[in-house]
Amino acid sequence: MKTFDVIIAGGGLAGLATAAQLVEKNKNLKVLVYEARQIGDGASGVPAGMVNPATGQRAHMVWNAEACFRMLDKRLDQLSSGSSTILKLQNGVMRPAVDEYLAENFRASLENKRWPKGWIEWLEPDAVRNKVPNLKNSFGALFIKKGKTVRTPEYLEAYANYLKEAGVSFIFGGPYSIDNKNGWTLNNGTNSFSAPALVITTGYKARENKYWSELPLNAVKGQLALYHCPEKVSHIPAISAYGYITPVDDHRLAVGSTYEHHFFDENPDAQGAGLLDQKFNELLPGLYPKCNRIGQWSGIRATTPDRLPIAGEHYDMKGLYVYAGLGSKGLLYSEFVASLLAMHITEKKDLPFEISLYRFARMQELREHADEQNNP
Ligand SMILES: Cc1cc2nc3c(=O)[nH]c(=O)nc-3n(C[C@H](O)[C@H](O)[C@H](O)COP(=O)(O)OP(=O)(O)OC[C@H]3O[C@@H](n4cnc5c(N)ncnc54)[C@H](O)[C@@H]3O)c2cc1C
Repeated sequence: MKTFDVIIAGGGLAGLATAAQLVEKNKNLKVLVYEARQIGDGASGVPAGMVNPATGQRAHMVWNAEACFRMLDKRLDQLSSGSSTILKLQNGVMRPAVDEYLAENFRASLENKRWPKGWIEWLEPDAVRNKVPNLKNSFGALFIKKGKTVRTPEYLEAYANYLKEAGVSFIFGGPYSIDNKNGWTLNNGTNSFSAPALVITTGYKARENKYWSELPLNAVKGQLALYHCPEKVSHIPAISAYGYITPVDDHRLAVGSTYEHHFFDENPDAQGAGLLDQKFNELLPGLYPKCNRIGQWSGIRATTPDRLPIAGEHYDMKGLYVYAGLGSKGLLYSEFVASLLAMHITEKKDLPFEISLYRFARMQELREHADEQNNP
């Protein structure tokens, strides 16, 4: 049996960020990332992810946007300096207003919300055309200078390399059984791994863990397509309008994504490809006919009812934690929430209510029930 201080089940954005935050808080911690398949096998494997703090039709600033950006930027800088590959494109994010109603909302967001200085500006239609000549006529656009695109597979690879150098162990071991007699033990038929703390970061599969079957997580399938364009596209900002279009490198664009609440399988399909072609053509009609679809990808997001991540310790099982529900904002939230969770695990610091398990009535009920059972 191999023993650790913390085992993290799941090697996506949540799992890697949690491992990093733990060993950076205490370099003596022995941390294992146990990934059933391979790093980025889940939603985190998305070929390019946009980092956009202005969300929804009203362009609300996301929860703790400044702290999230600070921590993500720090990680990107750190990993970029140790990598020969490009991990991000700092082109900003454009949110075109496709009608006057959205234009009004966006201008109001600029006026009413306390956006940090220099993050965001309003572009009149002419300025929009100057930035993206191929863009369908818009009523102006919000331009989020702080926004960016992350080449997620490259980011995860650099992240895993950094963690290995920092002493984190990785096992790619397939299915396992869990036992909680003396701490937490994972047994995959070949080996056993044990630790006093086990963190489940298995994305939408977190509910498959028998202790977490009550988590309020919804599985939402997303498909994304990659296109090759003969002309250079790497200067285009990410464009967010009912999905997104973003450059991946000089000649490739990623177009995402579908939001499928009911799906029969997890694979990309022809219907998804059709919708993504249509989205591309609607947004950039001048560019679409020149580009060819060269690939398609799908993944399953885990979302919560209030669209914020969920993290914390089990109401009844000491040492068992979960971190999931990153929805469509995995890049923005993963590092900041991981840092809060790492402090919760190592220093018993309370997690903010907004991301705690107990903001949901059902989880609150379960905790009260467990308290009654444990303290009759
Ligand atoms: C099409 C699409 C587009 C997206 N676009 C963006 C975007 O533009 N910007 C953005 O920020 N986010 C985006 N997201 C969301 C983002 O990808 C997710 O929020 C994020 O990846 C979730 O990370 P995670 O680590 O929680 O889960 P996952 O990435 O799903 O990781 C879970 C990991 O656990 C492993 N696993 C599963 N079961 C077990 C088990 N029993 N034991 C051990 N390991 C297990 C899986 O193999 C996987 O590697 C997008 C998602 C999709 C699907």
